[in-house]
Amino acid sequence: MNARRFFIGGNWKANGTPASVKQLIADLNSAKLEVDANKDVEVVCSPPFVYLAEVKQSLRSDFGVAAQNMWDKAPGAWTGETPTQMLTDMGIEWVVLGHSERRENCGETDQVVADKTKFAIEGGLSTMTCIGEKLEERESGETFNLLDRQLKPIAAALSEEDWDKVVLAYEPVWAIGTGKVATPDQAEEVHAYLRKWLADNVSKKVSDSVRILYGGSVNDKNSEELGRKPNIDGFLVGGASLKGDAFATIINSAK
Ligand code: PGA
Repeated sequence: MNARRFFIGGNWKANGTPASVKQLIADLNSAKLEVDANKDVEVVCSPPFVYLAEVKQSLRSDFGVAAQNMWDKAPGAWTGETPTQMLTDMGIEWVVLGHSERRENCGETDQVVADKTKFAIEGGLSTMTCIGEKLEERESGETFNLLDRQLKPIAAALSEEDWDKVVLAYEPVWAIGTGKVATPDQAEEVHAYLRKWLADNVSKKVSDSVRILYGGSVNDKNSEELGRKPNIDGFLVGGASLKGDAFATIINSAK
């Protein structure tokens, strides 16, 4: 039986104004959910750093809060950075790591993503660690090789227990923000591959228990069908997480 609790992450990216963030918090707080966010589904919203404190204080308490990055050093002389400890001191429980936008634009390598995942867990955070291929990698038949390459340093960095704190997000880069969602069969094929990879390279226990999210143009129209696939345990949602009603519908697809 599937004991993996469905998981919905909302990645707000670098979006929002003071007014729109207040409105989004109000819309989420009044959203009518048909599922219990304390039991059936786990919901975590990830606002930009400047809004983290406000969201943590004002967002409904059955939703968790994630940072979109963190600095993997102790607090100190790191101008412009936010060490893990500052996040946990504020009651932040989660961090998104390895997003393709950071891999591409901020030079985060596979090893950096693995090291940050380990550091975050040691610092008391849980991680949504992202992996996924670009269009040219998919078209040249390199998808699985690329995923192996991204997963290997993560598996090498983590102990078996560490995986309790990790949610893996499969986000094909060609589907992010493009409206070109992977078909349920395309996504399921990769999720099944990732689960087998974890069984072969980490352990059966980890493979059975780790939640694997799909991300990339998930919206309130396609989430239900995607969510019916046996190896899709939830979503990491970008654009549609900025609209309270669409995000609530996606959460309800956990039914
Ligand atoms: P999208 O973004 O839903 O806007 O495609 C997903 C993500 O980047 O996490």
